[in-house]
Amino acid sequence: MDTREFDLVVIGAGPGGYIAAIRGAQLGLKVACIEKETALGGTCLRVGCIPSKALLESSERFADAKHGLAAHGVLVSGVALDLPQMMKRKESIVRQLTNGVAGLFKKNGVTRFSGTGRLLAPGRVAVDGHEPTELTARHVIIATGSRVATLPGVAFDGDRIGTSTEALAYPSVPEHLIVIGAGVIGLELGSVWSRLGARVTVLEYLDRILPGTDDEIARLAQKALAKQGLSFQLGVRVTGARVEGESVIVEREGGEPVRADRVLVAIGRTPNVEGLGLEAVGLELDGRGRIPVDAHFETAVPGVFAIGDVIPGPMLAHKAEEDAVACVERLVTGYGHVDYDLVPNVVYTLPEVASVGQTEEALTRAGIPFRKGSFPFMANGRAKAFGVTNGLVKILAHAETDRILGVHILGPWAGELIAEATAAMTFGATAEDLARTCHAHPTLSEALKEAALAVDGRTLNL
Ligand code: FAD
Ligand code: NAD
Repeated sequence: MDTREFDLVVIGAGPGGYIAAIRGAQLGLKVACIEKETALGGTCLRVGCIPSKALLESSERFADAKHGLAAHGVLVSGVALDLPQMMKRKESIVRQLTNGVAGLFKKNGVTRFSGTGRLLAPGRVAVDGHEPTELTARHVIIATGSRVATLPGVAFDGDRIGTSTEALAYPSVPEHLIVIGAGVIGLELGSVWSRLGARVTVLEYLDRILPGTDDEIARLAQKALAKQGLSFQLGVRVTGARVEGESVIVEREGGEPVRADRVLVAIGRTPNVEGLGLEAVGLELDGRGRIPVDAHFETAVPGVFAIGDVIPGPMLAHKAEEDAVACVERLVTGYGHVDYDLVPNVVYTLPEVASVGQTEEALTRAGIPFRKGSFPFMANGRAKAFGVTNGLVKILAHAETDRILGVHILGPWAGELIAEATAAMTFGATAEDLARTCHAHPTLSEALKEAALAVDGRTLNL
């Protein structure tokens, strides 16, 4: 078997792996990146963030053309769905971005290996594939990501009972789609198919949607989504699902079985660690199947690091990228750090849900005194012009120091607005700092300024 020598070998080319490879090369390391799929970019670019956002955008345009334009005095008739074209557009965006990563590898001199990476020993990795190769390196980063979690009694058939990957490519609009799990994937993809005409029922185990999100915001989001046609059944334990002819029957504890023509299982994700050779280097997993690392992303085995979805922490693309940069910069420069308290979260529904920092519930539980300021988009001029006035901005600031501890937004472009809050919090801003920042008028961002003023009880436009 051919053996090649590198400074850094990265296993997996998702947002964690490809960014680690590029940053390593920028810092002068000789880098190899192993990816088992043909396209680079991982879950995020191939079957995650990017295709889901493409379909969210297209389906929103469709729903708007059908139901939203008349209020603007724009009359359209004969609006029809060309689902193959919608999918083609999505695939083209995915292709451009995954090819873009290949281009970035070339530009930065990262050597790509096609195949499955497997640890043989610390500093030695086998590439199993067409051309089996052995790579040696001082540093190895595991960035193998995650896959969908399974539910006992619910067997995926790759067609009627499937994961987000199938739901990103249904060949036709289901008449009735059952989504198991009212988390991010369930709500985003449930929204897509609901907008395209499906009846969507979301079955959730807990008594609320979007666990981890600020309670008030989650309740308002549920109301807004229900108004759009999503039907929620909370506190439901699904015990099984089976295909029967052209339908799927979903069994629930203590309830009648429900019939649908497709089921999307979206109950969370599980780290990809199988076949990685962790036992060969003596690496053990934590109770949730993740690879434990220290504050510098180093595993219990010196020289072996792990980042992204495969380690504890939020399973988000931007978090994986932050891990990557901090891990590699620390290797080369001695410094590198990610503040997990300031990783923003966005759910791309309509309205969007975005947050950073602590929730009201977490602050109360921790006994941290805080003041709260809210401002509704109903009182924001730009939101009125957009026609999306549902939702609010909520700022939580320390009662004594006024330092911003959490920002929670339900509203139009919340995913973009949260960046200002994240930047402010990164610089340790107080609510007063935000309140005294000049915001252009009319913009949605004025709602942030008003919420900051509201922390001190002095909103100007409410
Ligand atoms: P991944 O992106 O999963 O990449 C891991 C890569 O490693 C894969 O390409 C895999 O093929 C490869 N691999 C695995 N094992 C091996 C091996 N042994 N050898 C070689 N290669 C291997 N996050 C957001 O922040 N925003 C969003 O809007 C968002 N939307 C999402 C929508 C959906 C439908 C899904 C499923 C996820 C979404 N996520 C989103 C989550 C996001 O995709 C992940 O958090 C992110 O991709 C994690 O990056 P990663 O590099 O750790 O892993
Ligand atoms: P999730 O953790 O967001 O939500 C899973 C939901 O399923 C939870 O509400 C949970 O209570 C529920 N659930 C769990 N077991 C259940 C059961 N047996 N029956 C019914 N409900 C059950 O997970 P997800 O939506 O699958 O997303 C996976 C990951 O991908 C998340 O970590 C998320 O961060 C990431 N993601 C992010 C984005 C984004 O940033 N916009 C989009 C999609 C996915």
